Amino acid sequence: MTSYVSMLTATDARSHIHLIIGSNPLAAARCGQSLSAGASPILLVSETAELHYALQKRIDDGEVKWVKETFRDEHLFTLGREEIDHVVDAVFVTSAREPSSAHISTLCKRNRIPVNVVDAPQLCTFSLLSTHVDGPLQIGITTNGRGCKLASRIRREVAASLPPNLGSACLRLGDVRRKIQEEDHLLHMALADGDDIDDSIDQLSTFNKLVTEADLDAAKNRRMRWLSQICEYWPLKRLAAITDADVSNILQSYTDLPSLPPSLNPNSNSNAHSNTPQKRGRIILAGSGPGHPDLLTRATLKAIRAADLILADKLVPQGVLDLIPRRTPVRIARKFPGNADAAQAELHELAVAAAREGKTVLRLKQGDPYVYGRGGEEVEFFRGQGFGLARGGVENGEGDVVVLPGVTSALSAPLFAGIPATQRDVADQVLICTGTGKKGKAPVPPEFVASRTVVFLMALHRVAGLVGELTEFLDSEVEKGEGKRRALWPRNTPCAVIERASCPDQRVIRTTLDKVVEAVEQEGSRPPGLLVVGAACEFLNKLQKGQAWTVEEGFRGLDFIGDELDLGA
Ligand code: SAH
Repeated sequence: MTSYVSMLTATDARSHIHLIIGSNPLAAARCGQSLSAGASPILLVSETAELHYALQKRIDDGEVKWVKETFRDEHLFTLGREEIDHVVDAVFVTSAREPSSAHISTLCKRNRIPVNVVDAPQLCTFSLLSTHVDGPLQIGITTNGRGCKLASRIRREVAASLPPNLGSACLRLGDVRRKIQEEDHLLHMALADGDDIDDSIDQLSTFNKLVTEADLDAAKNRRMRWLSQICEYWPLKRLAAITDADVSNILQSYTDLPSLPPSLNPNSNSNAHSNTPQKRGRIILAGSGPGHPDLLTRATLKAIRAADLILADKLVPQGVLDLIPRRTPVRIARKFPGNADAAQAELHELAVAAAREGKTVLRLKQGDPYVYGRGGEEVEFFRGQGFGLARGGVENGEGDVVVLPGVTSALSAPLFAGIPATQRDVADQVLICTGTGKKGKAPVPPEFVASRTVVFLMALHRVAGLVGELTEFLDSEVEKGEGKRRALWPRNTPCAVIERASCPDQRVIRTTLDKVVEAVEQEGSRPPGLLVVGAACEFLNKLQKGQAWTVEEGFRGLDFIGDELDLGA
């Protein structure tokens, strides 16, 4: 059975007229609630009734109007505001003993007048929440009729867990938000000149569509994003203690994408940064997985949130880049054929310079940093610059280098293609290779082993050459007479091309070595992709007889998780 919940809404009741029927303390409380919502309560109760003293006081003070009559139907249609033809805006029956409550309820329901009758849920069209109020902040609890005592206990607990002054923080931040909205228009005009485009425009493939290149619009909203980042990531305590100085910082120092000013660093006390000793810099080398942001580790996510500067490789996918707080400066490697070394050197220099200023620098890499990710070279370089690998808390050199693993495409792409890389009785070893050697030369081809699964990265652009090397002796081998010693791969060995694994446009081509070149030619390429070779490829997915290859489009492997990435910071 479906159990429904209430639709919680916040009603703007300013200038509404509330009809309150009763004379007891609850009637007094309702009048109070009505007044604090800006409405005008009318008390409807006969002259002979004994009024609760608080009610009497409100009447004496002129806050509550008393209509000294017992309920008649026409009251609903004559006591209300003129602009809605005198129909009252809501009715509260505050005594369970009110004889006409069922009748009042029916009449209200028929006339779409919201009605609440105490202790009679079946007669109500709405109920009131147990509320905590702190300035503009209101928190309402309902158990949907399962117990108002319980609701009020829960409300107290929730309220007690909040830092003090949250209400005034809401006021302050609301102010900032309004000012930003007002000034956005001007900002947009300034940015439309184009001075805010970042350096990643040379990377137009959709996989690499990075950060701000498409984003004049985003730039326009940068302050707003920044504000939402603050609301999202600052500890609540720090938010509650937000000062006027913080606010003016948010308003002033954003335009040309600064890192957080020290006074806005959520972890620092805004008054105490003048005497703090220089922070030790840190360089974190982290893998970001094959593509889907849910394949990030928590450690890498934390590093993304903590970094002062992020230097990302070109292949780091959009879904991951989207997790970077907007305040954090990001550089993407300007890697294109022939520029790989220069791109790498550029990032190295930026990393060292920032770390020397005491910043936390995140080198965000695709997959795993040590699997064809040049991670080792980077660590070596940073070490040469005085940054040591952090080990067991030992402080090493000028600052630390930390390396975080990532889910490598070499193993996850086969998985998402339904290929168990080591399948009992089918494959007992996995070999991860590159299809491209240093300076573009072909690497030594791996030997055929019937129980081996080979994963070739960076290989699809030369798949024809690679398949040739696997299935035939090289000229050099023939010349030297060495050929006979290498076992060649049978041409009917199953293989699969897996592209953009874990991305929405993942594609898997299943075929055999003798057809793979033709298949790639016909289907085209969708980088990045890899080639898996070996009997494991067909363990869960066999080609039909006579079928040269099959193509599977799309990625649904993580759909069950949903879109929310809600890991605590
Ligand atoms: N460090 C990375 C690999 C970097 S080398 C890792 O551990 O995954 C780059 C190669 O990785 C690409 O040429 C391609 O072969 C492979 N690759 C990276 N991401 C991929 C993906 N999502 N799907 C398929 N292959 C991928």
